[in-house]
Amino acid sequence: MMGDMGNTAISEWIAGLGVYPLLVMLVPSITLFRKRGREVMVKQTASVLHAIIVFLITAAAMAIVAYELSDLLMIPVVLVIGGAAYLLRKRVFPYRLTCPECGRRHALFSAEFRNVYVMDDSLCNECRARLNPPQRPVVEQRTVDPEPDDELEPDDEPEWDGTLDDQDYEDDE
Ligand SMILES: [Zn+2]
Repeated sequence: MMGDMGNTAISEWIAGLGVYPLLVMLVPSITLFRKRGREVMVKQTASVLHAIIVFLITAAAMAIVAYELSDLLMIPVVLVIGGAAYLLRKRVFPYRLTCPECGRRHALFSAEFRNVYVMDDSLCNECRARLNPPQRPVVEQRTVDPEPDDELEPDDEPEWDGTLDDQDYEDDE
């Protein structure tokens, strides 16, 4: 038998977090997403996939702890999840890395990219402030459908740079 079996420190740590990583991901996603246009639906789908990834890792950690297995099992788990995420990369990561207005590159893991994560456009903060002056709070109930916000730019022409050209959604009309 392997002498290192039973080392579950990492799994215990992940399992100990319980559902909180999932909640941390889902609650802001559900409450912050703007409900306009197709592009944001693609991003919501991506956030669901992220939540599934977090759930699978948490579940694997809990199983390792429950059955007193080894942290080493997390390696194939992460490899399989990573491989699946790579195959689905255009769904898992449908974000533009540059601002469609000014072309400036977004910094990953920044507050600006957090906006790109939930917004139906991919504007940098400066262009967003310039094009969409704040009109209402960002946080709003999903069930309350506000008045149509057509006074913003029309959303029938999402400005993709071709990164999603094999997506299977079609035109609205
Ligand atoms: Zn910009």
